[in-house]
This record gives sequence, C-alpha cells and structure tokens, in this order.
Amino acid sequence: MANKNNIVIVFDFDKTIIDVDSDNWVVDELGFTDLFDQLLPTMPFNSLMARMMKELHDHGKTIEEIKQVLRRIPIHPRVIPAIKSAHALGCELRIVSDANTLFIETVLEHLGIREYFSEINTNPGLVDEQGRLIVSPYHDFTKSSHGCSRCPPNMCKGLIIERIQASFTKEGNKMKMIYLGDGAGDYCPSLRLRAEDYMMPRKNFPVWDMISQNPTLVKATVRDWTDGEAMERILMGIINEIILSPEEEKMLSSDHCKISVGIVHEPLVPLALQVPLSLVK
Ligand SMILES: [Mg+2]
Ligand SMILES: [Zn+2]
Repeated sequence: MANKNNIVIVFDFDKTIIDVDSDNWVVDELGFTDLFDQLLPTMPFNSLMARMMKELHDHGKTIEEIKQVLRRIPIHPRVIPAIKSAHALGCELRIVSDANTLFIETVLEHLGIREYFSEINTNPGLVDEQGRLIVSPYHDFTKSSHGCSRCPPNMCKGLIIERIQASFTKEGNKMKMIYLGDGAGDYCPSLRLRAEDYMMPRKNFPVWDMISQNPTLVKATVRDWTDGEAMERILMGIINEIILSPEEEKMLSSDHCKISVGIVHEPLVPLALQVPLSLVK
C-alpha cells in the first residue's frame, strides 16, 4: 500500500459497489421473485431474507448455486478501477452494508478486490451443517436495541461510522471520511459526518432524496454521483482535493497551481441548488 493519507472511504455495497441489490439479485436469478413479492408486505426485510434462504434450501438450491449467481452480479466497469486507484493513493477502504458476509465476500473475491478493503461491517452469513445460509443480525436486537429510531433493528450504520471516527480520535490520528451510498440506511451515517468529511449520495436514490429535503442537516460536503463512471471521477476529485489541502494549499502561492498538476475539480454546486422543484416546499 502507498503512504497512508488519512482518508477513510466507506462504501455501501448494494447499488453502490455493485449495481443491483444482492438480496434481490439472488432471489430473482434463482426464480423465487413471486414468493418474495408475496411475503414482502408481511414481515421485516431481514426476516424475509432469512425465510427466503430457508425456501431456497428447501427447494434444493445449494450454496454453490447461490455463489454462482453472485459471481455474475452486475457492476459498472469503472467501479473496480476507482477502488484500486483510491487504494493506490493511500486511502483506507471499508464497507458498511446491510447485506451479509457470504454475499459480499463471494462477490469481492470473484472480482479480485477483497484485499483492498480493511474492514467489512455487515450481517454475518454462515452456512450450517445442512448447507443452509443463516444470516444473523449485525446488531443483536434480541439482547438490546441500538437506540437509533432511523435505522432497522439489525443495523445502525451511523453507529458504525461513530465507532470508526472514535477509533481514529483515540489514537490521536486525523482522518477525513468519504462516504458513498444510495439507500435510506445511508442517511443516518451522513448525519454523523463532520464538516471536513464528504458525503457522496447516489443521485435520485433514497439517501439523495432524504438529504435534498433538508441539505443543511448534513455538515459534510455533499457531491452526488450517478453511475460508476461519475463515482470514479468525483471520488478521485475529492481525494486530490484533500491531499492538496489545507496545509499543502498554503504552500501553493496560487490557486491555479492545482490546475497545473492536472487535477480536475468537480463544480462545487451545493446540492440544494440541484434539488428538483417538485421537492422544494
Ligand atoms: Mg445500498
Ligand atoms: Zn441509525
């Protein structure tokens, strides 16, 4: 790994690293969409996935079949280069996801990018003696609540972000975080980011809508992205911006120096200005 630059990049997994939701992908590809849709209104999502895993097993679907389906999950071709470049520049990469360890590790290993991530925070997915996938909650809510009313009982991503922040503070290390996500579960972490951090919500996805409704609640700089190509460009822009500031910036006598070293800056349009009129009350 290159010299560390005190940047921690936290990726959501579903619809952020990969282009679909891994739970839905497995259910659909193995032909269980109808049952899934039928049960969806009747139980919480995590219970539903536990039930679906039981159904897959009862119908003779093996873990290997699940893994085969995961190995052809859609991912935008620029996401892997973005991850590799960020790592090469000295950023520490972590995942915070409401999927499960088996799904995420199968995909990352298949793509050859598992070793770029120092930490995967997700629901444990273990295969029992019968060869059935058992997904346990990341946060064991049968013992105690995590106390955050915004988040599902099995996981508060905001608490995970706070723990990461605290681990750096404890060791006396400065750190800037860049958070990328798309879902409603990524809103809680966006509220925990500090002014020096960056939030990258996927444009027109739930977390972007939630931020757009009241942009002032997010202290971090917000830069949205649409697809893997935009993700790579905007992420590289932010990393370069952080590496060049603030100490380094003082040493540069002119702002134009940045241009001379070939860094492309994204326009600094506040998210508020990009909110469609329909959202403005
Ligand atoms: Mg997601
Ligand atoms: Zn929360």
